[in-house]
Amino acid sequence: MEKKWPIGVFASIDAGLGVRLEVAHELGVRTIHLHTPHAASRTPGQAKEFLARLADLGITTTVVFAGFEGESYADIPTVKRTVGLIPPATRAARTSELKAIADFALLLHVGVVGVHLGFVPHDTSDPDYQQLIAITRDVCDHCERNHQALHLETGQEPVDVLIQFLDDVGRDNLFVNFDPANMILYGAGQPLPALAQLGWRVHSVHCKDAIWSDRPGETWGQEVPLGEGDVDFAAFLQTLDQIGYSGPLTIEREIPQEPARQKAEIGRAIDLLERLKKQCQQVRRAEADVVEKQERKRGEISS
Ligand code: MG
Repeated sequence: MEKKWPIGVFASIDAGLGVRLEVAHELGVRTIHLHTPHAASRTPGQAKEFLARLADLGITTTVVFAGFEGESYADIPTVKRTVGLIPPATRAARTSELKAIADFALLLHVGVVGVHLGFVPHDTSDPDYQQLIAITRDVCDHCERNHQALHLETGQEPVDVLIQFLDDVGRDNLFVNFDPANMILYGAGQPLPALAQLGWRVHSVHCKDAIWSDRPGETWGQEVPLGEGDVDFAAFLQTLDQIGYSGPLTIEREIPQEPARQKAEIGRAIDLLERLKKQCQQVRRAEADVVEKQERKRGEISS
């Protein structure tokens, strides 16, 4: 697999919004974030079968993404009410399930679990905030015993709130899955400065695009095909370069109800990212040439 920035896609086996494994393969993609299969499929036997299928297709899973029964991304208030570990009624059950998902990821030999925690309270004195810290520590410690990391999906929080939360949890295996489109969809702030600010904390990314809502934070922005939205992907790659991120560029396009369109749009997204990768490398090489020339000149002058 390509060392720097291999292209990936968000994929599913039997649950979730990603493309099917066969589609990933047809698109020539070798690395995926896998939406966790249904609870009934999370058995050692199924894990063996999935691993064999992935091996056949030449695909490596870099992150297993958690998902829970009853989550809905219909609109921002519904996300607040239903997504992640925030809703009180399902908090304990979902925390146990998240650990079970981590154990299933281990059976798939995957060292990273991704999750949308849901809306983290912005007020650090909120009892829910304190409880969420305790839960996240507990999940991180479970992952640590599995030699796994936990990646929090960005979007719901402004970057300062997220960094404060990560610092308050204070675990060495807690990182960020950065999704620039989510920042726009939720109206949580400009994605690229947030990416730069998160820096070393970013250990995986989703390449997804979106358009700002006219009432950011109140109503959804709109997810659109990569390259057609408000995320500047050339600048996104430059920023990834600056923060030293070299992992997969995992394309996410959440229209599983239209598989043909999903495949075509992901195909175009791959072409665009490959082109931008080349541009970014050319800029890098040109910069390196300038530095080399300057150093040579300096050497000539001093000698
Ligand atoms: Mg995402």
